[in-house]
Amino acid sequence: MRHRLVSSLALACLLIAGSASAATVIIQNADGAGEGFNDATAAVPVGGNPGVTLGAQRLNAFTFAANLWAAQLQSNITILVSAKMDPQTCTASSAVLGSAGATTVHANFSGAPVANTWYCQALANSLANTDLSAANPDISATFNSNLNGSAGCLGGKKWYYGFDSSPPGTDIDFVSVVTHEIGHGLGFQTFSDVTTGAKFMSNNDTYMLKLDDLGAVQPNYSLMSNAQRVSANVDDPNLRWTGANVDAFSAGIPLSGGLSGSHVRVHAPNPLVLGSSVSHFSTSVFPNEIMEPVYTGPNHNINLSLQLMKDIGWNLVPACSPGVTTVNDIDTLTVHRQATTFVVKVKVKNTGAFAATNVSASMSGGPAWLGFTDANGAYPDLAAAASAFNTDTYTLDVSNWPGGAFQVNLQVSWTDNCGGNHNQTVPVDLQPQPFLAVAISSFQASAQSERVNLSATFRSDLNVENVAIYRAVGDGPMRVLDNVAPTDQSRFAYTDTRVTPGSRYRYQLGITDADGEVVSQIRMVTVPKLDASLEQNEPNPFNPVTTLRFTLPARDRAVLSIYDTNGRLVKTLLDEVVPAGTTALNWDGRNDSGATVTSGVYFYRLTAGKFSASRKMLLLK
Ligand SMILES: [Zn+2]
Repeated sequence: MRHRLVSSLALACLLIAGSASAATVIIQNADGAGEGFNDATAAVPVGGNPGVTLGAQRLNAFTFAANLWAAQLQSNITILVSAKMDPQTCTASSAVLGSAGATTVHANFSGAPVANTWYCQALANSLANTDLSAANPDISATFNSNLNGSAGCLGGKKWYYGFDSSPPGTDIDFVSVVTHEIGHGLGFQTFSDVTTGAKFMSNNDTYMLKLDDLGAVQPNYSLMSNAQRVSANVDDPNLRWTGANVDAFSAGIPLSGGLSGSHVRVHAPNPLVLGSSVSHFSTSVFPNEIMEPVYTGPNHNINLSLQLMKDIGWNLVPACSPGVTTVNDIDTLTVHRQATTFVVKVKVKNTGAFAATNVSASMSGGPAWLGFTDANGAYPDLAAAASAFNTDTYTLDVSNWPGGAFQVNLQVSWTDNCGGNHNQTVPVDLQPQPFLAVAISSFQASAQSERVNLSATFRSDLNVENVAIYRAVGDGPMRVLDNVAPTDQSRFAYTDTRVTPGSRYRYQLGITDADGEVVSQIRMVTVPKLDASLEQNEPNPFNPVTTLRFTLPARDRAVLSIYDTNGRLVKTLLDEVVPAGTTALNWDGRNDSGATVTSGVYFYRLTAGKFSASRKMLLLK
């Protein structure tokens, strides 16, 4: 008896954390008692934020935003962010949501990539691998506490503190705004005076090194005179970011707005907007980017801005590991020539964003009666999102199967793109069920004169690859008559013309899918005998050629001759042994000497065994 395994998987996702070199951000609460981050007003947990006071929710959301950056930036030096919530400008139509920046800048420190160039404190600390200004926080940030639903402030909009990027209505996503502001503090800003064009204490900053003003006499922002920088600061759409990492990443998104050539545009409206100009991506960037100057809705995607961080000198945490890899699609292939084993092929899919190597899987566990013959399949390397069946299979010995479902453990191991090894164990429920692989629903064989028609219908879970036709003559042995493709995946038709009238045949089909061959029942047919006959010639009258047909019930010597009206032999058309069935011959109106005969009536006569017949025909010229 054949069975197949039907499996259902309890999917277990395995999350792999980033590298240990990711930065740590600590929030320094700069608010006074009972206000801002210390506001004790009760709050209901929202969007994954578990805080139960307004202050706690604000701090939680702030930490969530800070960690978006911290997880991606390498630093052994803790990044300290001094944060507070204070009343800021808010009218019915506009508001300052928040502001932030680096508290100190550093140049010519040990490990500085470019001499005489300012680096913001968090970046400088990371590059120097020491805290260059331990007495000061790295970033100072302030957020507007007036955004609390009062009608005079943006018509009643208020902060949303959930982590899920889903503020209701027109509420403003606090995580997005904090993420934006911390971005400035991490280096997304120029330290030059955008009003006068003057560099901060005569040094370049690492941000301006990548600014370029297309078409300007001096396009290199750091080489410009102060006056040229003042012009560049209002030169939309020509001020752009030329860092290689942003260039490459933006091409891959791709951006559909905010590009100047292959470079992402930097915000340079005319007139200048203090606090916005130069230190943001252009408002034309699309899809919208977290570092645009105006809030464009919830956005926790910092990927493009991370590339800008890389351009100014940050080392990013290597993008490691397949991230989330799930094992799925336990396939249901079976080999059941032996009734006591199941053979299972397992498909593994890499659902992560990076390649997985050294992929292997093994099966273990299960009930005491279950045996494994081979439980270690090797897989090819899996690119991101790729999946593969292993080249090995698991043979489960179910000699003592008591019936019912059972469970085994499938363990998948792989190495991520940073060399980290991972494994994941997934419980697999196996439920043996009645065989369904190939089933032949019907098979018919019917004889007509001189042919046998075969037809079958069948079903298979797999692709039917071949239909073998077996035939036996009489009680003789079954032999392969032909191998053909199915008409489609559920039907088959075939005509056997190599039959002898009066003979008996037995037919059987063998239908093969990936699971093996299933044979049909045997059908027996007898091809009807034929009566001996001589047909009227066609055409008649004729000129110059006509066709003569006769049928014999069995193989026999046949003589077909043509005579004139005087009984004289004109031509012997045939004198030989012919098979049973119908034979057709042409006569072209020539005699045995090859000469054309005259118009008139002629007779043709067939003699075969005991059968003899003659007919009349007319040659008309
Ligand atoms: Zn900003």
